[in-house]
Amino acid sequence: MVTTPTRIRAHLNSFPDTPVRLVNLDLEPPNAYVWHRRGFVAASGVPPNEPPLATLTPAADVASTKTAGKSEHSRVAAGHRASHRSAVHDAGPHRPDDADASAVPSNTRRATPLLAVAATLVVAGIALVAIGIQSGGGLDNDIAAAPARTAIPAPYDADRAMGYLRQICDIGPRPTASAGMETQQAFLKRHFESLGGTVRLQSTRIRHPETGDVIPMANLIASWHLDRPKRFLLCAHYDTRPFPDRDRRNPKGRFVGANDGGSGVAGLMEMAHHLDQLPPDVGVDLVMFDAEEFVFDERRDKYFLGSTYFAQQYRMQPPQSPYTAGVLLDMVGDKELKIYYERNSLKYARQVAHQIWDVADDLGVTAFVPRSRHEIRDDHLPLNQIAGIPTVDLIDFDYPRPGLGAPQYWHTEQDIPENCSGESLAAVVWVVHQWLQRQ
Ligand SMILES: [Zn+2]
Repeated sequence: MVTTPTRIRAHLNSFPDTPVRLVNLDLEPPNAYVWHRRGFVAASGVPPNEPPLATLTPAADVASTKTAGKSEHSRVAAGHRASHRSAVHDAGPHRPDDADASAVPSNTRRATPLLAVAATLVVAGIALVAIGIQSGGGLDNDIAAAPARTAIPAPYDADRAMGYLRQICDIGPRPTASAGMETQQAFLKRHFESLGGTVRLQSTRIRHPETGDVIPMANLIASWHLDRPKRFLLCAHYDTRPFPDRDRRNPKGRFVGANDGGSGVAGLMEMAHHLDQLPPDVGVDLVMFDAEEFVFDERRDKYFLGSTYFAQQYRMQPPQSPYTAGVLLDMVGDKELKIYYERNSLKYARQVAHQIWDVADDLGVTAFVPRSRHEIRDDHLPLNQIAGIPTVDLIDFDYPRPGLGAPQYWHTEQDIPENCSGESLAAVVWVVHQWLQRQ
């Protein structure tokens, strides 16, 4: 069907005065779109208790992997069962349970009369087309939402955090064993040492997946209060993917990884300003993993080389004070930040996840959404599976947002500082630091 925004507007204006609210394929209020006559905007400003006027049951769940581990495509139809589970789990703010969703009574989405479903499909179809058309225009700016209900306290400095993100990206691409990586390591060492950290590189060698050459790989570890017995691991990957291979126009182009690679590091750089304020027995290690995605061919090359090495070393030579818990920051710089429970984190570190989201709730950081959404394979898997450190992945995989018409910045040339926000970084640092304060 070919249509135009004008026709869509005319069609929707023929509805009564009530705004027509359409929930997109994700079925979640933050992703709903509201028709405000001038265009579609996100429904995040809509009172949460107001039920959607029209909903569309998704054809399939969006089961994502940050890596190609599960599929060549990041977003795959995970089948009917997963779809059902998603609909149940995402029906409202609650703590998801890993138990099979079929055990959870839910008929809220089954009892829709056929006619209503048909009408919904037609209207929602038009809406999705409209969203697709408009997403190239001014929609991006319209729906960027503040990550918190209240102002983020000034010490968690959004401008400073954003400055770090820009400085990291100014280095250029930073894949494993590149000149950019070396520059970044020197930059980070200076930064963390200036704030009282003890910095070391955990170095090893790997084979270049393309050439077979032996090349260096190193995790960077910055520690605070090494004498303290209750230790926490905060981590991120600091390598960038060799190419923006999901970029439709230029898959062999330049990839600076502002969100994917840069945001976690910028968050840890900001965090370092706050590590003099911790409970008296708490110490923290900030760990930046190399070779999270030194991947040239998804079917051939391995992910998580740095975190796997770290986890193996940890297991072979356990420290005197093992980590109480770990938090991984990945893709936390999105301007439209929404961090859902990640399913592997719930599987391995449920308690930690609940603690963090509870802190976010207390602080009014609405960017943390207490529902599960994606199952993501990331650096937290080796930490949980090999090292046995209960580690949660804080990740907003929908970059910039979910929805059929939304642009996709992940692994493209559009993963740049302009699509990130210091407010998002500061909000995440605030939550994680406050969580540490409560230990
Ligand atoms: Zn990536």
